[in-house]
Amino acid sequence: MSQLADMSPIKDVLLEVKNLKTYYPIKGGFLRKEIGAVKAVDDISFEIRKGETLGLVGESGCGKSTAGRTILRLLEPTDGQIIFDGKDITNVRGTSLRKIRQDFQMVFQDPYASLNPMMMVGNLVSEPIRNYFKRNENELKTEVMELLTKVGLPEDAYYKYPHEFSGGQRQRIGIARSLALRPKLIIADEPVSALDVSVQSQVLNLLKDLQEEFELTFLFIAHDLSVVKHMSDRIGVMYLGGLVEVADKKDIYSEPLHPYTQALISAIPEPDPRKKKERIILEGDVPSPINPPSGCTFHPRCRHAMPECQQVKPALKEVKPGHRVACHLY
Ligand code: SF4
Repeated sequence: MSQLADMSPIKDVLLEVKNLKTYYPIKGGFLRKEIGAVKAVDDISFEIRKGETLGLVGESGCGKSTAGRTILRLLEPTDGQIIFDGKDITNVRGTSLRKIRQDFQMVFQDPYASLNPMMMVGNLVSEPIRNYFKRNENELKTEVMELLTKVGLPEDAYYKYPHEFSGGQRQRIGIARSLALRPKLIIADEPVSALDVSVQSQVLNLLKDLQEEFELTFLFIAHDLSVVKHMSDRIGVMYLGGLVEVADKKDIYSEPLHPYTQALISAIPEPDPRKKKERIILEGDVPSPINPPSGCTFHPRCRHAMPECQQVKPALKEVKPGHRVACHLY
């Protein structure tokens, strides 16, 4: 059987993640034996349909970036399945992995750290194309110039170096580079959180325009709920390595079901000062993913916690069409 056996019968799903786990081993003692694990991603399942944007949101350290990197196979999954475009890519390696990498790309939080400062922008954007295709130099240059124009950079950017640009422009270079291979899926990991607020919406609008033009599917990772709201069709909320709620954007913002999502939404400032809004203050800190609480990992901070919450881990289940939540209240 082929390493890339056809797995998904659902036609419009581009990415399916099933029971994904990414644990980082902790070693200790004289023999450096494994004595535990950081459960960075602990059994998450979701899917993304072609052309849609799924926002993945949660506090820093909740595992959302690790999930993105594991899906791209930049990190090895500990368990679970990643099905991309109908093929199980969880364990593919070598040339099969290289071939699939054409189809998914990452946009990073810090564009400066992800761009080689010694390379001209023209070379940075053409590098992935050179790695995958044979092109003559004139064709390649025309292609790169077109990409630079599409992301809103002047053509003379081709001959400049990353340090000659502002933060927003550098993120545009990163976006042009991620588009160079015409990917199907882009995982954007906090793509605007390092930028000035004044340029954030420009970059977000650019990503939306490019999504339409290049028929892209996005996994959009961010801690800022207003940024996620602007970009996403559906939203998944993560807490301590797990997915606690997944629903359409409007349902998450108008009728959040999970007590953690309710607290996150309540913390968004209300632009109209005449409207009163209850702010739910979460008590305590996020527990350690090395030794997460038993049962529902949110129970030490949950104002609705019941005795069973300490013992039984709630499954993520559909409580309304398209609305899944992991909580014993439902
Ligand atoms: Fe709160 Fe229990 Fe629901 Fe967890 S399962 S969110 S502790 S009510």
